[in-house]
Amino acid sequence: MTSQTPKGSDALQRRGLMFILSSPSGAGKTTISRMLLEHDPQIRMSVSVTTRQPRPGETDGRDYIFVDRNQFDRMVEAEEFLEWAHVFGNCYGTPKAQVKAGLKDGQDFLFDIDWQGTQQLYQKLETDVVRVFLLPPSLDELRRRLTSRGTDSAEIIEARMARAQAEISHWDGYDYVVVNDAIDTCFEKVTQILAAERMRRARQTGLIGFVRELTRPDPASGEPA
Ligand code: 5GP
Repeated sequence: MTSQTPKGSDALQRRGLMFILSSPSGAGKTTISRMLLEHDPQIRMSVSVTTRQPRPGETDGRDYIFVDRNQFDRMVEAEEFLEWAHVFGNCYGTPKAQVKAGLKDGQDFLFDIDWQGTQQLYQKLETDVVRVFLLPPSLDELRRRLTSRGTDSAEIIEARMARAQAEISHWDGYDYVVVNDAIDTCFEKVTQILAAERMRRARQTGLIGFVRELTRPDPASGEPA
């Protein structure tokens, strides 16, 4: 046995990626996001800023950074967002600082944002972005999921159903589309997408040195002196 272990491509330095999971509310995005964060230590959530009220069980700084409209407008003015959008009469935005620094260090970020935010991020940081869209298996199932959450009024559910259909019409602005009919299968597909995207040549910033080492003249096969 030699004392030297080959470095292996998993240990190579790479740039982080921005993994965007979008779907209409109720298509399973929150569950899949939670599973990804639990199972994969290399990815962390990009926590958005919003002007909407916290829902029961939501924590400031973990689920969202909750601010009032004045604070949000000030952040827009100061160009603190990578993107922002109006959704359901509230404002949502992705803070710039943590993501930009993290990507350089190989940190992956998960984004739970809508199609407008996805478009803006793609325009700004195209090569770092991977866009995944989750679809519900049917409209009936979508309604069932939205109703069983039990936190919103009938009026809000109807508004969300209408918006879901509008949101679904943006499916073609994504790199991958996954139908979420069974959560475990959907999760597996999403993790496969993430694994493959991490291996993209352009993201593996440590490759040049690694390959240079592999292609240097091998003294062991040299001519005897
Ligand atoms: P909710 O209020 O149900 O948490 O989110 C409503 C919608 O806003 C969802 O479609 C979610 O993906 C989207 N959203 C959350 N954060 C952001 C963000 O930072 N930017 C954009 N563009 N959309 C967001």
